[in-house]
Amino acid sequence: MDTDQSPFRKRASGVWKNLCKAVCKLADPNQSIERKIKSKVKSGEDTLFWIDTWVGETPLKFCFPALYAIEKHKRCCVKDRMGGATGGIQFCADWFRPLNSAGEWGEWNNLIAMISGIQLVSGEDQWSWVHGGDRSFSVKSVKEMLLQPAVEDSQLKWLPLVPKNVNIFGWRMRKQRLATKLGLRLRNINVGSLFCPLCDEVEESEEHLFTSCLVSSAIWAMISDWCSIPPIFAFSISDLLQVHQTCGKSPKSQKLVQMVVLAACWCVWLARNNKVFNGNTTSKFTFGHGQKP
Ligand SMILES: [Zn+2]
Repeated sequence: MDTDQSPFRKRASGVWKNLCKAVCKLADPNQSIERKIKSKVKSGEDTLFWIDTWVGETPLKFCFPALYAIEKHKRCCVKDRMGGATGGIQFCADWFRPLNSAGEWGEWNNLIAMISGIQLVSGEDQWSWVHGGDRSFSVKSVKEMLLQPAVEDSQLKWLPLVPKNVNIFGWRMRKQRLATKLGLRLRNINVGSLFCPLCDEVEESEEHLFTSCLVSSAIWAMISDWCSIPPIFAFSISDLLQVHQTCGKSPKSQKLVQMVVLAACWCVWLARNNKVFNGNTTSKFTFGHGQKP
């Protein structure tokens, strides 16, 4: 089992260790036990900055994969990065190399916004079970957790021919955990204008950006034409991720359509970041060109 997925710190109690072992043995590999056990950070000494869930609902390694890739000490603690007992936004970075791309700088800005205002205090970090909302552990809640993702994540199968970071991007998009303007505002992060960077007409959410935005709508029209499939009408991310199942193609072609749809979403996201962080506009006719996954 992957011990990165659970709080196996020296101070974690035997109950937590046994719980994690039992659930990980039973669980589908795609399930996310690490998101159900959340740390309430105090000193930050027992919580892994990138790997444990402690701010937001997802480990930071999934929210900021580009930064995690250049982190020197993947298992560093919150205290290692937050600058000691006074905490605050003084981030003590330790990268393999300096940040050098718009994507990395974009993640950096979002990370700082996310952890700003967090103060470390004295005392041991505490762990809680967050599935179901009442923060109390029960067999019923574990059962619900084990059954729920099998249905919910059927649209999130790992695509082996697609780069790892694009697969992770797809997961975050499906879970509405991308750092869109509306998503950041909901986390009380001031992002200025909430309007979509691509059309500048509607507030930017995942659903708008990838389904109803004028730019992405034009792209779906072109893709349905290129792939010779019925017009793509998606009203939600879920609709988008099911396009391949209803396109009337063979199972092999359906997989290709699924990859094309995910790759197109990735290109929309890169174009959006290019506009937000570099001020550059990407024509819908050049989407995907020169954009490395
Ligand atoms: Zn738009």
